[in-house]
Amino acid sequence: MSLPVTDTSAGESTRRIDTLIIGSGFAGLGAAIKLSQAGKEFLVLERAAEVGGTWRDNTYPGAACDVPSNLYSYSFALNPGWTRSFSPQPEIQAYITSVADKYEVRRRTVFGCDVQDAHWNGDTHRWDVRTTRGDFSAKNLVSAVGALCEPSLPDIAGIDRFGGEIFHSARWNHDADLTGKRVAVIGTGASAIQIVPAIAGTVAHLDVYQRTAPWVLPRADREYTKAEKFAFRYIPGFQRLSRTLQYLMRETQVVGLAKAPVFMKPLELAARAQIRRGISDRALRRKVTPNFGIGCKRMLISNNYYPALDRPNVDLVTDGIAEVTTDGIVTKDGTTREVDAIVVATGFHVTDSPMFAGIFGKDGRSLADVFDETGMQGYKGSTVAGFPNLFFLVGPNTGLGHTSMVYMIESQLNYLVDAIDTIDRHRLGTVEVRQDAQDEYNRGIQDALKNSVWNNGGCASWYLDKHGNNTTLWPGFTFEFRRITKHFDLDAYRSVAESDLPAPAEAVESAGTTTERTAPASRKAALQ
Ligand SMILES: Cc1cc2nc3c(=O)[nH]c(=O)nc-3n(C[C@H](O)[C@H](O)[C@H](O)COP(=O)(O)OP(=O)(O)OC[C@H]3O[C@@H](n4cnc5c(N)ncnc54)[C@H](O)[C@@H]3O)c2cc1C
Repeated sequence: MSLPVTDTSAGESTRRIDTLIIGSGFAGLGAAIKLSQAGKEFLVLERAAEVGGTWRDNTYPGAACDVPSNLYSYSFALNPGWTRSFSPQPEIQAYITSVADKYEVRRRTVFGCDVQDAHWNGDTHRWDVRTTRGDFSAKNLVSAVGALCEPSLPDIAGIDRFGGEIFHSARWNHDADLTGKRVAVIGTGASAIQIVPAIAGTVAHLDVYQRTAPWVLPRADREYTKAEKFAFRYIPGFQRLSRTLQYLMRETQVVGLAKAPVFMKPLELAARAQIRRGISDRALRRKVTPNFGIGCKRMLISNNYYPALDRPNVDLVTDGIAEVTTDGIVTKDGTTREVDAIVVATGFHVTDSPMFAGIFGKDGRSLADVFDETGMQGYKGSTVAGFPNLFFLVGPNTGLGHTSMVYMIESQLNYLVDAIDTIDRHRLGTVEVRQDAQDEYNRGIQDALKNSVWNNGGCASWYLDKHGNNTTLWPGFTFEFRRITKHFDLDAYRSVAESDLPAPAEAVESAGTTTERTAPASRKAALQ
């Protein structure tokens, strides 16, 4: 079915649209493709100039995925062109842009369009969305703004007065040549352990500031052989089989992570062997050995991180940062280490995304306020009580530590498309998840997490919020999530038919002026 191309020009007046999708990473792009295939009217709003999200923004040296690309890609757009088992960032970004081209998503995307806020309008029963490219009114709003999108900067005294180059790993400054420079990397998470080996050989000296040592497993990365590439492209089902085997192998980790941490022991032994193999110095081995159960924090994979730390020009600093000066970093033991550049690799705002502060629900409260009170709770990672017709992709408790986020995203896309289809089929004006359904769902989630290594592994991770709840991770097998999101379960929602919605006020007095408000087009159609 072909739909008219949406007018994406920035205009003065408010543009009306059935469904607005914020963000064009794997999630937003996938939503656009699936809604387009379902014949729905939608528009994507993207603040950057290109699609890709994570893979457009994270261009640091060594950036690559941690899940084999055959699995870390859409099931409906397999890519026989991967050159390696774990693709580097440029290949993943090229894949995402090629998918956007193939499904013609760009013509339905407004780029350079930063969504400032979105208010549920109880009068029109629609979302009023304010952006840097004008105002929109949407019946349905889809938040696909990503969980690892907003760089989180460390709150370190003096960091603003540093005189050299300083940038976040997700905003790498490619104009800054680090060759032959003294460089500090703050953080030892997933990004840092890719950056450190990539730059250790070219900088004069590297200080790696570690607060908590991560568990690091071997990375089974290799170039695909010609035979494999041929088979991916020409032997029907070969790539899908490889993908399925990778999927199943990864799912076995869920037993140890979520149900019986004792089964994590073999992985811990493999990680300890990595330390012995990669590091010659005993004191350094002790420093890099984590003091919590493997899997409690995100498990990392690398074959060259430990050898990089073992280099004579690299120091692992564990004393804790006291302050940053104009030309260096002072640790809590009083030592000053002078550097020319600082790379901040301290992760992202996950449970406190700035977008939460800008989405205002039925009672006028922002998501940030609601989440501050209750924790980041939602229903099936997709909806939140008090926020009608708002759908999340990669929402609460959809994160993973062991396999592809794209699998979770595709599960959520099934739910989203079925939800919007249900709204259209039943001519519903609003759907809002019932508070009791949401509460029961969350009790189940927290219950399922009770025995997990994330809750019991003895670490303080970003998985847990200030209430001590794990509101980021899915607690079981991902096929269980696929099952519960297969269909939109309208009975968990309070819904109002379009024809039963109270008519919007014909004229609203506001600040002394009179603003005309008209009935939504969909309601007009229902009344005709
Ligand atoms: C370095 C790194 C490596 C990773 N590696 C893996 C991996 O190997 N395997 C895995 O499963 N996961 C990995 N992840 C997680 C990864 O984020 C997800 O797999 C996936 O890419 C998320 O897609 P998304 O569309 O939800 O979010 P994103 O890719 O973050 O996209 C969000 C989009 O929303 C846009 N946006 C945000 N706010 C606004 C606004 N106000 N207005 C308009 N647009 C807005 C952003 O510009 C962005 O384009 C990695 C993450 C990082 C940071």
